[in-house]
Amino acid sequence: MAPVTSILLQNGTLLIHDYKDHVKALKANLLVVGNIITEIGPSISAPSSETIVIDCTDKIISPGFVDTHHHLWQTQLKGRHANDLLLDYFPKGNFTSSLFTPKDIFWGELGGCMEAIDSGTTMVVDHAHMNYSAEHSTSAISATASSGIRSYFCYSPTGRIASWSPFEMAASFMPDWVQAQLVDLAAKQPFGDGRIRLGFAFDGFFLPKDMIVGLYEQVRGLGIKLITSHYCRNAIMGTNSHVALLSSYGLLKDDILFSHANGALPEDAVQLAAANAHVSSTPDTELQTAMGSPVCFRPDMHKVASLGVDCHANNSGDILSQMRLALQNARGAYNQPFVEAGKAPRVVSNTVEDAYNLGTIMGARAVGMGAEIGSIAVGKLADLVLFDGQSPSMVCAAAHDPVAAIVLHASVRDIDTVIVDGQIRKAGGKLKAVELAEEGKLREWKDVATELLKSRERIEEEAGKLDMEAARKGTMAAFHIDPANILDHL
Ligand SMILES: [Zn+2]
Repeated sequence: MAPVTSILLQNGTLLIHDYKDHVKALKANLLVVGNIITEIGPSISAPSSETIVIDCTDKIISPGFVDTHHHLWQTQLKGRHANDLLLDYFPKGNFTSSLFTPKDIFWGELGGCMEAIDSGTTMVVDHAHMNYSAEHSTSAISATASSGIRSYFCYSPTGRIASWSPFEMAASFMPDWVQAQLVDLAAKQPFGDGRIRLGFAFDGFFLPKDMIVGLYEQVRGLGIKLITSHYCRNAIMGTNSHVALLSSYGLLKDDILFSHANGALPEDAVQLAAANAHVSSTPDTELQTAMGSPVCFRPDMHKVASLGVDCHANNSGDILSQMRLALQNARGAYNQPFVEAGKAPRVVSNTVEDAYNLGTIMGARAVGMGAEIGSIAVGKLADLVLFDGQSPSMVCAAAHDPVAAIVLHASVRDIDTVIVDGQIRKAGGKLKAVELAEEGKLREWKDVATELLKSRERIEEEAGKLDMEAARKGTMAAFHIDPANILDHL
């Protein structure tokens, strides 16, 4: 067993949530013992000579960010979706998991986790839809554990490609080995010294009712506390309500987390709130790929919303960007009708505090961990991010309003230190080396980058042999997408 470590953060500006979720800046010291915040106060002395003491005089100390929807395996696909829509993404991105070996998944997952930690994300919901073999999922869990991040690894029955040419999806969505591994992983969780809990990712709403009900009952019976699903209503993904479906099956409970929920019906919002179920808005992918407007600032979604990155293959992997994009997009949408009417709004819509809460405490609640993470308080887990308040982008803003400084001025560059579960994973603006369980040795980020580039080159070569246009047509057929709904202009 590792010895108990302690970290003393001296004289920092702590961002503390009150009982109404208002965020106050407090100049104070903070002590971490083991993985817990044990003391906050004006003068705290180091409990031992081994205590790591960090001078935080110019630092803003924030709770770690919570990313409630992310496909962490996709690192090798970064950059290829810059001008893609949803229908392009499926064959070029999602389905190319068929080209990944378990080793590719390991490096992709590790890269995704390390990018997240670098950007201050300490907890992530990983919708792990790359499950081509049992080893693909165990590789991903091993990489997540090596990175040091906290996560819900949401095990996913995955729509797999049986053949690229002619394009065919595998007939069985839930083969026996998937069933067996689900049971096995549930018995073995948590992983990574308790940081990684097993969740379940389900996108099989086309299955018959008795199968879905049986599966959800089984998953809950296995002690799995989070079930996440994609849901949006549009011409590509269809207009059925998954919220209404789960509700009608008696399955809509507080362990349900829908990603996106673009175009959710007013009655969806009512049912989600009544069940204390949650949604994850991912503004970057939703705005780009015509999924619909992000719902996180919709008044009827206010109490159930959180933020996610979705695809770091498509956009940056940091929650800072998602907070800012969500806020300014919501403000723009609110302002536009006034502008078009030749009028002006009296007040700005939504606040930087609203955006900050979506990336912190609301995310924690969305994963059922509001009492453990998402804010800074004695007794909570030590997931913390230290910003440099005197960087060129943060200076003066940090002194005036630290929350505004984070939401509107900060970038990943300004994140000096990241602590996850009481362990320092980034210090002095640089990711620390990770220890790979299988190798038993430390790897610096540049070593991981080298492996990622090798893996990317091989995957890219394989992808180059595929007929993406045929795959796109096959996707349309498999998803029952009506070509008449895809237009050049309205
Ligand atoms: Zn997704």
